[in-house]
Amino acid sequence: MNGLIMDYPLTTTTILNYANSAFPDKKLISYLPDGSRHEYSYAQLYKRCCQLANGLRNKLGIEKGDMVGTFAWNHYQHVELYYGIPGIGAVCHTINIRLSAQQIEFIINHSEDKVIFVDATLVPLLEKIAPKLETVEKYVIINATKNFSTSLGNVLHYEDLIGEQLDTIDWPEINENDASSMCYTSGTTGMPKGVLYSHRSTYLHAMTILSPNAGNYNFSDKILLIVPQFHVMAWGFPYMCLLTGSDMVMPSLHLQPKAIINILESEQINKANGVPSIWRGVYEEMKKNPPKTKLALEEYLVGGSALSASLIENFEKDFGIKGVQAWGMTETSPLGTASRLQKKHEKLTRKEQLKIRAKQGFEFPGIEMRIIDENGNIAPRDGETMGELQVKGAWVIKSYFKTNSRDKFTDDGWFKTGDVSTIDVDGYMQITDRTKDLIKSGGEWISSVALESALMSHSKISEAAVIAIPDEKWSERPLATLVLTNESSTVSSEELKEYLSKDFAKYQIPDQYITIKQIPKTSVGKFDKKEIRRLYAEGKL
Ligand code: ADP
Repeated sequence: MNGLIMDYPLTTTTILNYANSAFPDKKLISYLPDGSRHEYSYAQLYKRCCQLANGLRNKLGIEKGDMVGTFAWNHYQHVELYYGIPGIGAVCHTINIRLSAQQIEFIINHSEDKVIFVDATLVPLLEKIAPKLETVEKYVIINATKNFSTSLGNVLHYEDLIGEQLDTIDWPEINENDASSMCYTSGTTGMPKGVLYSHRSTYLHAMTILSPNAGNYNFSDKILLIVPQFHVMAWGFPYMCLLTGSDMVMPSLHLQPKAIINILESEQINKANGVPSIWRGVYEEMKKNPPKTKLALEEYLVGGSALSASLIENFEKDFGIKGVQAWGMTETSPLGTASRLQKKHEKLTRKEQLKIRAKQGFEFPGIEMRIIDENGNIAPRDGETMGELQVKGAWVIKSYFKTNSRDKFTDDGWFKTGDVSTIDVDGYMQITDRTKDLIKSGGEWISSVALESALMSHSKISEAAVIAIPDEKWSERPLATLVLTNESSTVSSEELKEYLSKDFAKYQIPDQYITIKQIPKTSVGKFDKKEIRRLYAEGKL
């Protein structure tokens, strides 16, 4: 027997309609690529989404199921695209601008984008590959300056597309299971793979991140979205902010620590998101040049790579700002866990609490997780037994776009994350490594993530990445690459070995430490260990 409850579609348009009705005065503020500040209300956002949807249909002939690409920074036009495109049943495909030209070309041809909306500042990247793009019929330029010119053919300007269109629309009925958006993985192990999100998964994911055990957002918040809209839909924040009625602030390309601090200061931001390297940079800049007045920032949500206990501790001690660790993947929309303390943790020492907060955290409702050990058994939740993390849930991928490969899926319906983790008795998951980065020395596993976290808590070290290098006797040994906080200082291997010996067994401690200027990073700001291994193999470290 069916329940007698209305069929109410969980779509991105439902989110937009809700914000227009419940929060018409809330603000979307953008720091545009030319440095200017733009502000309008959610009521204005709604109207422009209608204009965009009308323009997509009337001027570009976009229909249900068409792929529409975006190649843009975080700003209001990109938010309009997040709603206008899926609102008419098309798919908003956000393209990661930091991938290689070859990967971008592959992604656009593979997804069969019909139109690409591109920021004027990013046009040169597309010009290089445009002749090889097989399906793109038109480029729509966003934020063009007066003397803008391009070799791209068939160009239209964003404001000309939406300018003459009606600011009302009869939104078409959309099945909540239809595709709304798409994002490719960053392709650290091969060519990027497409993850196609549905309206329903987007809605449920956004509802979950606003909840107290997760992001804990509400209509009094003013949130800075540092995570790019071209990376896993900015973690769903452009949807979540309209559900909570939080003000949303977009930095576009102003992502250097100083620029971020300026925005935090002038906008009185109280919440923000971002990867650890961003927050490490902001912390170090604030240490060098402390803001004149105390920032309104209360909390920053971190994911993408491990947030170390030392960064959590230092930010809180020096500036009273709390870091919350979350975990996720492109394949999980992305957020699946977050690490917040519970009532029972209040009696723990600060060090014990930090240890929990530095874990990747507790699964959200709507997500299930399990660890499969080396023998293929489900590992106990004892905080010690390591194995591959597998997940399932309402916003977890069930198949990649246009591929039949089932390598990443189990027969009983779980997604294999490729992360090696433990889950403790309280349900907190902790990543020890990615399968491809594991170090096995003399038959024993060594966690590169734990070593990195410990090294980065050393006052002289700003960043540390640990890789496995071949070793005749032990088969592999860990090697640490380091970036020093102060370039002119030095740190000896002996000092570091001694430092690590407090928390690590002798066999786990790296023998070699190499100081470098910069740790190579991937398109989404993670340590690029494949590149570090290559540099080492070629003797270039
Ligand atoms: P890619 O898989 O191509 O690197 P993603 O951005 O989807 O791109 O990355 C997902 C991976 O990032 C996870 O599988 C995990 O290894 C890592 N990751 C995400 N969040 C965290 C975190 N809080 N701590 C440690 N690693 C994380």
